[in-house]
Amino acid sequence: MKRMKVGVIGATGMVGQNYLRLLKNHPWFDVKYVAASPRSAGKRYEEAVAGRWLMAEPIPEQIRGLVVEDANAVGSAKGKCDLVFSAVELEKDAIRKLEEAYAAAGIPVVSNNSAHRSTPDVPMIIPEVNPGHIELIDTQREKRGWGKGLIAVKPNCSIQSYVTPMFALIEAGYKIEAVIVSTMQAVSGAGYPGPASMKMIDNVVPYIGGEEEKSEQEPLRILGKLKNGRIILEKTIKIAAHCNRVAVIDGHMACVSLKFKGAKPSLDEVKKLWINFAGEPQKLNLPTAPKEAIIYREEPDRPQPRMDRDAWGAMAVSVGRLRECPVFDLRFVGLSHNTVRGAAGGAILSAELLKAKGYL
Ligand code: NAP
Repeated sequence: MKRMKVGVIGATGMVGQNYLRLLKNHPWFDVKYVAASPRSAGKRYEEAVAGRWLMAEPIPEQIRGLVVEDANAVGSAKGKCDLVFSAVELEKDAIRKLEEAYAAAGIPVVSNNSAHRSTPDVPMIIPEVNPGHIELIDTQREKRGWGKGLIAVKPNCSIQSYVTPMFALIEAGYKIEAVIVSTMQAVSGAGYPGPASMKMIDNVVPYIGGEEEKSEQEPLRILGKLKNGRIILEKTIKIAAHCNRVAVIDGHMACVSLKFKGAKPSLDEVKKLWINFAGEPQKLNLPTAPKEAIIYREEPDRPQPRMDRDAWGAMAVSVGRLRECPVFDLRFVGLSHNTVRGAAGGAILSAELLKAKGYL
């Protein structure tokens, strides 16, 4: 298959660098366009990130010499790429307008920014959970008069650690009515250089601006139904979130208690449902899909960020510590890699799904 030309806007940042690392040798996508702020524009990529390339492996060879464009000059992307991954850090309103400008110019946008997550005609996707929501793009294109252009987004970086395991139970017919989730979120979630070391070492910060709202509301959209060109939120589930920043580099962990309405699954059944869970990416064998979407760890002290975040290319969700809950019905710990599964990798998987379904 001829590879599709793609671009990364915000290519010099932490998520942007992860895109470039993960797209190196991608069988479907070939990076031909990199863009960032006017501060980086005009420089060769390796010069633009000198002293701030954060990946363990070197800058991919084919990227080093690419000239960084100004992400705001949408016209410069035309002809160079047929899809952009968006990881720019700007005011939300500016991000919305910028992503719409790319889509209006006929360039599909797959974004990990939160700016468009509640835009009614923009699908927010965890490919294993709500792949069908991409059909919202038909409405989006019709309403906005976009031909090839589209915008699809991925959700907040911490929610896959508990929404995918919850979905495996919902799919089997169980009704969840209440969720209490406490997250322990890595510093990389704040971008580079992140919170000051004096704030993080020997400490836990019990506040991440805007994060609890996203952790409570975004799952209701992901678990919602697409009906007549709009998403009907799953309002029967109540979620309370406590979000904490901890001194971990990568990997967001969530301690979760679930309460069911009606029948509740036994612990053995939950384990079986998680172990056997396969979503659309696994069924379609998409290039970035983890072979196991959910890994169940039997050890009493797992999952742990350092040991489990990289499972299946850092795309699998690891769960463990499944046990009864004396207040709700059952509880567990979930973990997913925030800058891969929760950002660049999750967006690449969404783009693969869009391509497999004929939207690119
Ligand atoms: P980051 O490291 O601060 O990178 C920001 C990127 O945006 C850089 O490429 C920067 O270019 C570019 N940029 C800044 N100002 C710009 C401007 N005026 N015009 C065009 N480009 C501009 O941030 P990050 O952690 O990669 O996060 C990027 C986005 O992804 C954020 O919206 C964040 O909320 C979201 N996100 C992050 C994570 C995570 O785990 N880190 C997870 C999910 C979502 P220069 O280098 O030229 O300044």
